[in-house]
Amino acid sequence: MSRPLLMIPGPVEVSPAVQAAGEAPPPGHLAPRFVESFGACLQMMRRVWLADEASRPFVVAGGGTLAMEMAVANLLEPGERALVVSTGYFSDRLVEMLRRYGAEVAEVRADEVGGAPDPDRVAAALSALRDGGAVKALLATHVDTSTGVRVDPAPLARLAREAGVLSIFDGVCATAAERFDMAGWEADVYLTASQKAVGVAPGLALLVASGRAIEARERRAGTPPPLYLDWEAWRPVMEAYEHRRAAYFSTPATTLVAALEVALREILAAGMPARFELHARAARALREAWAALGLRQVPLRDELAAHTLSALRLPAGVDASLVARIAERGVVVAGGLHPAIRSEYFRVGHMGYAVTRPEMLRRTVDAIGGALEAAGAPGDARAARAAIDAFAG
Ligand SMILES: *Cc1c(COP(=O)(O)O)cnc(C)c1O
Repeated sequence: MSRPLLMIPGPVEVSPAVQAAGEAPPPGHLAPRFVESFGACLQMMRRVWLADEASRPFVVAGGGTLAMEMAVANLLEPGERALVVSTGYFSDRLVEMLRRYGAEVAEVRADEVGGAPDPDRVAAALSALRDGGAVKALLATHVDTSTGVRVDPAPLARLAREAGVLSIFDGVCATAAERFDMAGWEADVYLTASQKAVGVAPGLALLVASGRAIEARERRAGTPPPLYLDWEAWRPVMEAYEHRRAAYFSTPATTLVAALEVALREILAAGMPARFELHARAARALREAWAALGLRQVPLRDELAAHTLSALRLPAGVDASLVARIAERGVVVAGGLHPAIRSEYFRVGHMGYAVTRPEMLRRTVDAIGGALEAAGAPGDARAARAAIDAFAG
């Protein structure tokens, strides 16, 4: 049988050109071709993030967690206050990080797993918190990979702006697939990692900070952040490469940056509106397929369901061994992650290259349909396939 198809919420399938770039001998970080490549990546990131010229892109070796840590470490000093909009496992990670940096954290949590607090509740929580003193940042997870819940960042960014509070969004399972208008919404940090919807191997933390966020770091009065995380340490390097000059602080992951250039070019060739729309259409087709197979989603309402992954409840009588049965059929999906429901659901990633290849979605739906049938919970596999065929057009 052919290589298994990787349909987890990251790492994801990458395009043949991205894979080829990742297989080349490692470029030197001072090589002219690499300097060009890194500079192009930084400029293209602004376009993918829909960010303005005052914003600053950062590419640093590490994972999404490092990108989260960079945002928190640079923007929050001990004793400063932050509000976290909590929709799952990764929001909890943000809270833990904030506490370790000595921030005072308040949370506004979803009432139940699969939900998200509505903006009115966030507004009330923010205003209550501000009654007690200045608030530095509002943080939210754009798509929480543990629940498949997507929040709408636009009203949250607006609330933050109106209150003079910085807004920080974890886009690790969203950036380059879910609509995010960093300049239009005046958001302050949007961060991700290479292995999710950007469509490169794991290993790069990607972050864009607004001019306001950069100024907030510059104004920082107390002790600086840990050196490797410090925007002030990295900024001269990023600016040098953007101007096509090499610079050094810590060796960039050169092979991954070369692959990132290819991935960002592919994303921008389609154009951001088309890219967002393709993910939305694929997600709709998959939702139809899941319904045909008798699968219910973890997100409580369709508008809360991410376009980048599906979190699906196991049908009655089917246990988590379904994931292994799906793997036997050549498709790798992920088990549960949210501690409250870990053994009750599974997750399917659908972002990046796979969404441009309907046959990959078809293989995924067929494998899940076959596994459900083998587990004694058959759905309407033909209707599921028809949903994907309609998407493929
Ligand atoms: C994957 C993910 C992370 C963590 O990224 P790593 O690269 O595994 O550190 C953080 N937040 C969200 C929403 C994610 O999906």
